[in-house]
Amino acid sequence: MTQVAPSDKSDDNKNSSIIVVGAGIVGVLSALQLQREGYQVTLIDREPPGNGCSFGNAGILARSSFIPLSSPSTLLQAPSWLLKPNGPLCVRWSYLPKIIPWLFSYIKAGFKKDLVERGEAVHRLTDESVSLYMALAKEADCESLVAPSDYLQVYRSKEGFEKGQGDMNARRRLGFAIRDIDEQELHQLEPSLSKDYKYAHHLVDHGFVKDPQALLLAIFEIFKKLGGQFVEENVLSVETAQSKPVVTTNIQRRDCDKLIIAAGAFSARVLKSTGIKIPLETERGYHFSCPQPGVDVSRPIMDGELKFFVTPMNNGHRFAGLVELAGLDLPLQEQRVKVLASSAKSMLPNVNTANSTSWLGFRPTFSDSLPAICKAPDNEHVVYAFGHQHLGLTCAPMTALLVADIVAQRQPRLDIEPYDIKRFKGI
Ligand SMILES: Cc1cc2nc3c(=O)[nH]c(=O)nc-3n(C[C@H](O)[C@H](O)[C@H](O)COP(=O)(O)OP(=O)(O)OC[C@H]3O[C@@H](n4cnc5c(N)ncnc54)[C@H](O)[C@@H]3O)c2cc1C
Repeated sequence: MTQVAPSDKSDDNKNSSIIVVGAGIVGVLSALQLQREGYQVTLIDREPPGNGCSFGNAGILARSSFIPLSSPSTLLQAPSWLLKPNGPLCVRWSYLPKIIPWLFSYIKAGFKKDLVERGEAVHRLTDESVSLYMALAKEADCESLVAPSDYLQVYRSKEGFEKGQGDMNARRRLGFAIRDIDEQELHQLEPSLSKDYKYAHHLVDHGFVKDPQALLLAIFEIFKKLGGQFVEENVLSVETAQSKPVVTTNIQRRDCDKLIIAAGAFSARVLKSTGIKIPLETERGYHFSCPQPGVDVSRPIMDGELKFFVTPMNNGHRFAGLVELAGLDLPLQEQRVKVLASSAKSMLPNVNTANSTSWLGFRPTFSDSLPAICKAPDNEHVVYAFGHQHLGLTCAPMTALLVADIVAQRQPRLDIEPYDIKRFKGI
C-alpha cells in the first residue's frame, strides 16, 4: 500500500486511540493504514478476521468494473433475469415490502444523468487495486496470492455479446484495452470452456487474489506486528452524541478518539443506535467451490449473460455470483446453490464437483452503487467506510488510504465528495 510520507506520521497520533468496527477487507486494511500512521488501533469483530463477505468472494481485482450496476442496461434485463429459474437475480417475495424504497431509489439511480460521473468515482477507487495489493502481498510475504492477469467475459449468444458492448465501450473510453475475440481464439485460450460459448471480450491488465481470506489474514498479521490489537466482540451499539465516541460490545464499553465503521452490510445495524437511518441494503451472493476440479482454467472468466464468475484459486475453482434480495437474516438457500452448481457445469462441462462447498455472503450496497467513505454526519470523529457492493475487495486498499486521510484531516488523495453519505436525502 502507498506508504504515508514520514512527515505525515505524527508523534501526537500515539496518544490517539482508534476503534475500527469490522475485520473484513475494508476494516483490516483501514486498521493497518491507521496503525502505520502511529495511532493505537483496536479492531473489533464478532468473528475472527475475514469471515464475512470478504471470505468467499470471486477474488477478482475488477479494475474496469466501474459502471454502476443500477444502469439502464442492467435494469432493462432485470425482468427477464427474474423469470429465469437459473437467472442471476431473485427476490424473496416476503422481503419485497421492506426493500421497495431501496429498489425504487436503485431504479431511479439507473436513469439519473450522473451515471457516468458515478462510474468515474468508482473507477478512482478500483484503478490502482492490483498494484496496491501486490505491494501489500510483498510486505506480507505472500506475493503468490496476488496474480496480475487478463480476464474473459464470455457469451453464448450474439445478442448477449452485443448487449455487453455498451459496457465494454465505456471501459474502453477510460483507456482499458479490450478485444472482441472469436470462438476459435476463445477456446484456444480456455480449452475446458463449454463449446456453447461463441463470443468473448478479452480484458488485459486486471488481476485476482488466489485466496482472499489467506491474503486478508496475512495482512492482518502485519497489523498485529505493528502493535494493532484485535478483539473478538459483538458490537451492540455505538454512541456518537459526545465528542469521544463510545462502543458497547457484549463484553464492555470502550471509548475512543476516533471510530471507524467498516461492518460491511451490517453497518446500518451497527449505527442504528445513533438514530441515523443508513439506506444500505444487501445483495446476497453465493459461491460454489470445487476443490479438485480436474479441468484447467487459466484466468478469471465471467459468463456475461448469467453473470457469474469462475476463478482458479489455490483451493480449487470458485464459481461465484447471483444476487438474492432477501435481507440479512435468511440463511443460505440450497436452491440458489443448485442454480450456481448447474451454471458451473454448463460453463465447464467436465468439472469435478466432488467435495464441493458452498457459501453465502452479504454484499453491502447503496442504491447509487457508490460506497460511503466520509465523516459521519453527526460526529466528525466517526468515519464511515462501507457499501462497496460487488467491488469491496477491489476498492478496499484505496478506501483504507482515504479513511486515513480523513482521520488525519489531510487533503484526501481523491475527491471524496461522491462518497459522502449526505448525498442521501434526510441525512
Ligand atoms: C458472491 C460474491 C462475489 C464477490 N466477488 C467480488 C470480486 O470478485 N471482487 C470484488 O472486489 N468484490 C467482490 N465481492 C464483494 C466483496 O466481497 C465485498 O464488497 C467486500 O467483501 C465487503 O467487505 P467489507 O469489509 O466491507 O465487509 P465484510 O467482509 O462483510 O466485513 C464486515 C465485518 O463486520 C463484522 N461485523 C458485522 N456486524 C458486527 C457487529 N455487530 N459487531 C462486530 N463485528 C461486526 C462482520 O463479522 C464482518 O467480519 C463479492 C461478493 C460476493 C457476495
